[in-house]
Amino acid sequence: MNLEQVLQETYGFSAFRPGQREVIEGVLDGKDVIALLPTGMGKSLCYQFPARFLPGSVLIISPLLSLMQDQVAQLKKLGEKSVVAINSFLKQGAREEVWRTLGTYRYIFISPEMLAQPFVRQQLARIQISLLVMDEAHCISQWGFDFRPDYLRIGDMLPHLGNPQVLALTATATKKVVADIRKYLHIPEAFLYEHPIDRKNIVYDIKKFDSHKDKTDWLLHYTDRYRGPGIVYAGTRKKAEELAALMIEKGESAAFYHGGMEQQDRIFVQQQFQNGELEWVCSTNAFGMGVHIPDIRHVIHYQLPTSIEGYVQEVGRAGRDGNPSLATLMYAEGDEALMESLLMDELPTEFEIRAIHDAENRQLLVDQGIVRETALRVGAYWLSQMTIEKTIEQIRKLQNEKWWQGRKVSELVTGEGCVRSYIAQSFDQTIQGKPSNCCCFEGIDYTTFETGTKSSPQVRVEGWQARLARLLPD
Ligand SMILES: [Zn+2]
Repeated sequence: MNLEQVLQETYGFSAFRPGQREVIEGVLDGKDVIALLPTGMGKSLCYQFPARFLPGSVLIISPLLSLMQDQVAQLKKLGEKSVVAINSFLKQGAREEVWRTLGTYRYIFISPEMLAQPFVRQQLARIQISLLVMDEAHCISQWGFDFRPDYLRIGDMLPHLGNPQVLALTATATKKVVADIRKYLHIPEAFLYEHPIDRKNIVYDIKKFDSHKDKTDWLLHYTDRYRGPGIVYAGTRKKAEELAALMIEKGESAAFYHGGMEQQDRIFVQQQFQNGELEWVCSTNAFGMGVHIPDIRHVIHYQLPTSIEGYVQEVGRAGRDGNPSLATLMYAEGDEALMESLLMDELPTEFEIRAIHDAENRQLLVDQGIVRETALRVGAYWLSQMTIEKTIEQIRKLQNEKWWQGRKVSELVTGEGCVRSYIAQSFDQTIQGKPSNCCCFEGIDYTTFETGTKSSPQVRVEGWQARLARLLPD
């Protein structure tokens, strides 16, 4: 088969993007594949292309509703009709119709939580699934606020689904995360395609301050000087709100975003940002996945990220159009304390594990404030897998991993070597040629980012109302 010819005829591209061919060939050869491709490198083609040649359906597990809806819309735009997303947007009547005709869909999108439902699994067991695609596969390795136990059950479900071939896709994964993906998805022999993590058009800056007031002043000066779109990442919800309020007071076009908001409000902010109606979004790390904005010019971390991987992912949202983008990490002495407390807060304490173990009604522990919600999720999962002593041991191991994770971030911010090289090394990679505009230790030409005078942001594409209507169909 001439892959290029198919690519040209079907998608209108004359050449594959780096990595796509290797991944597609792996899938077509019948292998399980783990693909590490930076966002914007055309990950979806990696399953859409082989899907044309597979006899059964492709089941795509996606962590976010908005991500799912986006991919469905994208496929429909390509003229693909046999595509369905099984999620809460699907009305009861429509759902029954979907079950009845399930085997006729080429693409079935689903969340891990939905897949864990016995009824849903029974339905899927009736049809032929040729390929299981796990989007954002690094989610498997997250412990703490982002922990979703159903991710870890996907591997156990494979036999119920007829043991389909597996394709795990993610933008960033360290060796440890790749090992977790192999382990929990039960694909020890999977072929690994790893694209270099380095993005040449991202310039890394680290700014050090004596106080938090200096930090805030500098940020307000910065957002006044440069044009967005830009994301300002804060460590807490409160800080995200606070920074947005200060920026708005200064006349900036800004909003905040975090996981504590109603879903509708979150979609609203995301849409406004996407449509160019907002210049800056101040956010926790809840913002970004599923945000498709090619020209984000600035990603600023007002507080330290909790891992290098998280940092790379957040920074990677900038400059998808390939144009120079500035990633600024702000640091004041003592910032590590907040990062460390955020990291350690994610895992249950020994007291919490014992309480969860002994309780008859675990939810009551959360309601009474004895055990934190996150602690219950993580603790209950491990207690379902092993004895209480082993669970305590396991949590200690995870705490230790988190401690190292934090150490790597401290080293990044207090070190004085090339930031780009340090990041690459964290992923066991080496840099192939540095751009002239590299990082703060090798000189940054800031004029690159001065794009004319500031004016009110312009609407780029359709209004948010139209887009919201499309995302939330009747
Ligand atoms: Zn450098």
